[in-house]
Amino acid sequence: MIRMSTTLEAPAATRGLVEITKVRKTFGPTEVLKGISLTVEPGGVAVIVGPSGSGKSTLLRTINHLEKVDAGFIAIDGELVGYRVKGNKLHELPERDILKQRTEIGMVFQNFNLFPHLTALENVTEAPVVAPRPGKPRRSQAEARARGLELLDRVGLRDRADAYPRQLSGGQQQRVAIARALALDPKILLFDEPTSALDPELVNEVLDVIRELAKSGTTLIIVTHEMGFARDVADTVVFMDQGQIVEQGKPQDIFTNPQEERTRSFFSKVI
Ligand code: ADP
Ligand code: MG
Repeated sequence: MIRMSTTLEAPAATRGLVEITKVRKTFGPTEVLKGISLTVEPGGVAVIVGPSGSGKSTLLRTINHLEKVDAGFIAIDGELVGYRVKGNKLHELPERDILKQRTEIGMVFQNFNLFPHLTALENVTEAPVVAPRPGKPRRSQAEARARGLELLDRVGLRDRADAYPRQLSGGQQQRVAIARALALDPKILLFDEPTSALDPELVNEVLDVIRELAKSGTTLIIVTHEMGFARDVADTVVFMDQGQIVEQGKPQDIFTNPQEERTRSFFSKVI
């Protein structure tokens, strides 16, 4: 709330690719993020787990500037999300610069959110061709198409390029959504329960694509209830409860030897 006169804590916020520092967010009377700090190194994979209502989605949304924080800072690759430092004051960025920042962050949602009237390929190419990409060269139709097919190939769906979302299974739709998120060459990809809306037999095809991304060095923050997947893919597992990070650590440590009672209790229910 005292943001404009805040003296600078920001420079400390430039170590990781993603640096979240003491972030708070309130909706009405409820504080849903109560001072969250988290660092994700370049190429790192952070998996966030925790009960429903603990603030996981809200945290992802603040990283992508879909929600403004009430206090604290988020920096991506050394740039503050939503703010510029001038002198020792913070100034809100103009809308245009916020849009530019948002092109550097890909997000994949639980419900795919594809455009129903566009083919798989058009869903992937729509953003890079139509939307201006401040700071990045605009692609021609032909370039966008070639890149779109390459991305569909990466998620195993090149042969379904001309299918409409309703002709695809949920798992295929989610893989198109991942290809679309990659189309802007984001610095980081955020996943909010990417397999929660899928029939069980379709979960693995989506998790396999995310595993590939993790291996290829893409920086990822993933909210999921798939604990086996979290154990495989995470560098850091973050357990959130009631707006706080209760505990975080390497998967082998946090799953086998959680330090906090709340973490133990949660894992005993979900594993
Ligand atoms: P999670 O993703 O861990 O289930 P959320 O971040 O969705 O948790 O929600 C955390 C809390 O914030 C919940 O109590 C939820 O009802 C509340 N909340 C989330 N978004 C809003 C909003 N836009 N307005 C009011 N309350 C919200
Ligand atoms: Mg959620």
